[in-house]
Amino acid sequence: MDIEEFRKNGKDMIDYICEYLAGLGERRVTPAIEPGYLRPLLPSTAPLKPESWSDIMADIEEKIMPGVTHWQHPRFHAYFPSGNSFPSILGDMLSDAIGCIGFSWAASPACTELETIVLDWLGQAIGLPKEFLAFSEGSKGGGVIQGSASECVLVCMLSARAQAIKKLKQQHPFVEEGVLLSKLMAYCSKEAHSCVEKAAMICFVKLRILEPDNNCSLRGATLRQAMEEDVAMGQIPFFVSTTLGTTSCCSFDNLSEIGPVCSDLDVWMHVDSAYAGNAFICEEFKPLMRGIEHASSFNTNPNKWLLTNFDCSTMWVRDRFKLTQALVVDPLYLQHNYSAQSIDYRHWGVPLSRRFRALKLWFVLRSYGIDGLQRYIRNHCKLAKRFEQLVLKDSRFEVANDVKMGLVCFRLKGEDKLTQELLAKINISGQLHMIPSLVNSRYIIRFCVTAEHATENDIDFAWSVVSDMAAEILSDPNNRQRRQSLLKRRLSFVRSVSRDVFQRSNSRSSLYDGCSPVIILDENDMEIKEDVFTFAPMKEELNEEIKSK
Ligand code: PLP
Repeated sequence: MDIEEFRKNGKDMIDYICEYLAGLGERRVTPAIEPGYLRPLLPSTAPLKPESWSDIMADIEEKIMPGVTHWQHPRFHAYFPSGNSFPSILGDMLSDAIGCIGFSWAASPACTELETIVLDWLGQAIGLPKEFLAFSEGSKGGGVIQGSASECVLVCMLSARAQAIKKLKQQHPFVEEGVLLSKLMAYCSKEAHSCVEKAAMICFVKLRILEPDNNCSLRGATLRQAMEEDVAMGQIPFFVSTTLGTTSCCSFDNLSEIGPVCSDLDVWMHVDSAYAGNAFICEEFKPLMRGIEHASSFNTNPNKWLLTNFDCSTMWVRDRFKLTQALVVDPLYLQHNYSAQSIDYRHWGVPLSRRFRALKLWFVLRSYGIDGLQRYIRNHCKLAKRFEQLVLKDSRFEVANDVKMGLVCFRLKGEDKLTQELLAKINISGQLHMIPSLVNSRYIIRFCVTAEHATENDIDFAWSVVSDMAAEILSDPNNRQRRQSLLKRRLSFVRSVSRDVFQRSNSRSSLYDGCSPVIILDENDMEIKEDVFTFAPMKEELNEEIKSK
């Protein structure tokens, strides 16, 4: 493709994107296909000769789109929002065109400098303590863009681990580092995201998962008791990962209580606010951050709830030298003359190479202004309240979380199976998409407002689908048993559950990853291990059901 062809095809692509996004509402939210659908549609080897652009584009609508889950669809209410907006898409296009790899200041100065500035802008808007901002007087802190919240938690844990080992090494210079490592203990709540468990695995440290209170909030007294028990057993607490806005139900750990416990034991307190942190740009949500002054680090994902495309996970630290001490490796070929005056972001994370991700965030912040972004967040919160009211008004249902932001957790009163069945029915219809989770050990449906321009009509439509399908389920008790046996296949069919998910829900930890639905199967279903798609008669039945919708 030469530059003139790119000019033309690029414009055509923008047209295609506009049509796709404008016509999204006409499509099913989730694809009606089965695993392996694509393999027979594509050749088994890459083409030897170049193919025409029109042939490639024809395959998009014919072969790719049928297998796409439309995250920007107005009826998509699963997970958390996947940030997306026109300014952000354009920012990423430009970043791709510049194509720089900004691992050091010298490798592309604007790439580094814009990131530092934009992170200070966003940090100020969120209301982070000034020690986290790179340009505040006497600050040792600063912000960085990582690829994901999981990466943020990992690098903070790595840094805390390095600090803890350094301190222990001073106290016990002749003890092997491996022995010291075996004493380190990290903490989080049962409601924390599974990435904390993964980080502890990578860091090779023990993780103690604590019970939150009835509001799914980790409390200081629980943490203090656990740490005291561990210290008495010779363990060394070094890191606590707290959450503001948990994945399951958007609950908030009590930082004002946890912070002083961490300070007393010189423990690193990280705050993971992947979704909810974006809302702190609104004054009315800032009180939910109370206690943030105790934090050593904080992350939020503009690629979730700030109209910025994946990947853009922003992270701030109070002391950047603690971060870089854990991550610096400095071969000669990456050194340059300005290291003392500039930031080299390769020392702030795991990868060496980094894209110019600050561009899209800069475009978003400038195109919407903080004002426009606040309006977007407030609209989602208002619509979630509307959905909550609809649930509360219906005596068949109950709300299972304290709705503070854009997430409502709800369930049919009674046994979990009813809600499972309801969700299966909704998802298979392709009219809405939601995922389940567990709140206080009860199976719930998560309804999240996700679309940029979500309206009251979208909420009312979603409720009408939920309400009608609930009526069908509740009015037909005689048929329940048969439907129960269909249930796990139905869920599987809409790619909600698979064996690994099923195993996960039975795994030793109950940390949720926010993308693997938690499924509770009947006990007598437990022995069924075959792939659900081997049930041919069932597939036919499901296909019929889909066709009839
Ligand atoms: N932390 C929380 C609170 C989350 O809700 C999520 C995902 O939803 C994550 C971490 C993981 O985010 P990422 O996919 O950016 O690693």
